[in-house]
Amino acid sequence: MDKNKYDIIRLKMERTAEALRDNNMYCECVDSTEEALEIIESFLDEGDTVAVGGSMTLDDMGVLDMLRDGRYNFLDRYEEGADVQKIFRDSFSADVYLTSSNAITENGELYNVDGNGNRVAALIFGPKSVIVVAGYNKIVKDIEAAKVRVQEIAAPANATRLGCQTPCTKTGHCMNCASPQRICATAVITGRQRVQNRIKVILIGEELGY
Ligand code: SF4
Repeated sequence: MDKNKYDIIRLKMERTAEALRDNNMYCECVDSTEEALEIIESFLDEGDTVAVGGSMTLDDMGVLDMLRDGRYNFLDRYEEGADVQKIFRDSFSADVYLTSSNAITENGELYNVDGNGNRVAALIFGPKSVIVVAGYNKIVKDIEAAKVRVQEIAAPANATRLGCQTPCTKTGHCMNCASPQRICATAVITGRQRVQNRIKVILIGEELGY
């Protein structure tokens, strides 16, 4: 990437990180997914029970492979024959929960929209520690911009990825559908936290996920 462009992106990342810290979330900015993986590893202890929310970012980064290397008790929702509903419930007592965020505002808020609700539920309560990993492309100015991001990019792209029969997969933007496969059932804004640093955000200077 052009250095001047990246300098501006990096300033935006640092500004957002400061706002997240003000909201009692831990935050680090890194240039690459490799650096992010090292930080994630440093947050995990051998034997930890770890669960993940559905995320293209985690797929892109190779986090799942790392969790499957035998050091952790990984509640692997993608394993063939996995009892996914049980894993969703067991995730609430995990030591660590890994996820991305649909958007992160420059005011230090996470904005997430979920179909099943398992991902946003675990983000809010349950796992002792939550690690949120996101590319710079997830940063938006405020909650209004976060809603637009989800309606115009994240939700239609995720609905397409998951093969949902929703109108956005045909039009490319939200039609506020009443489809049985609607993936926008619940929206959650994560603002200032009571438990300091339970949520740890790693902002990466790469475009990742939707
Ligand atoms: S509400 Fe429906 S149409 Fe809109 S983004 Fe969500 S799934 Fe797509």
